[in-house]
Amino acid sequence: MTAAIEDIKSLLTFYQALGFENLPITMRASGKAEPATIIRKNSTDAVMRRLPADQTGNKDAQLRELREHIGDCQQCKLSKQRKTIVFGAGNPGARLMFIGEAPGKEEDLQGLPFIGDAGMLLTRLIEKMGMKREDVYIANIIKCRPPMNRDPEEDEIAVCRGFIEKQISIIKPTVIMTLGRIALQALMHSPKLKITSARGHFLDYDGILVMPTFHPAYLLRNPQDKMLTWSDAQKVLARLGLSAGAQK
Ligand code: URA
Repeated sequence: MTAAIEDIKSLLTFYQALGFENLPITMRASGKAEPATIIRKNSTDAVMRRLPADQTGNKDAQLRELREHIGDCQQCKLSKQRKTIVFGAGNPGARLMFIGEAPGKEEDLQGLPFIGDAGMLLTRLIEKMGMKREDVYIANIIKCRPPMNRDPEEDEIAVCRGFIEKQISIIKPTVIMTLGRIALQALMHSPKLKITSARGHFLDYDGILVMPTFHPAYLLRNPQDKMLTWSDAQKVLARLGLSAGAQK
């Protein structure tokens, strides 16, 4: 009993550190809560976060080849205004991949995905999951910044999607977390999917588990929903056989 109370206390402290301000009590009351997540304490966690270096070398080479193939892509109108093609970054041997929508201003300037405010929140989530950004792979559905951060348009997604699909087929992660509605709909070719109902449930992409969750930019505006993304992340950790190593 005492151990259970200690567990609850440490979980609440953890949620607080993530920035949660309240618990989704109403969800539980409506009977819609997911079953409790089992956090496995696994001594092989460290090796399970990514493949050994000798197994990632080939993937690294394939990704570099793909980047070379993309070159100074001019296939859509975004190429006229972008500063940098934001290819993606992280570990080619990652078992977990995050896919967002499109680069924003900072990303366009620096050529790296998720490095602005939303990126900082994503980094915190990754770390709370017990990993580092270098352990996972982060990319977007499209590789160039839309003007004024507008939503990517259909023609832009259509010409760019082959690149992210190729990245997925090279990396072959165990799980992909899609960030926000656009990434979810584009990856799954399902314009009708709603993020509010799809999130929290695994989908299948070519044998790879897909966990849709909220976009970090949305979470910055709606911090009360960080709790839901954390619950999505815990399901991912359970599927990877990992525990949230950062928690104390
Ligand atoms: N939002 C995204 O969807 N991707 C980024 O890389 C940055 C912000």
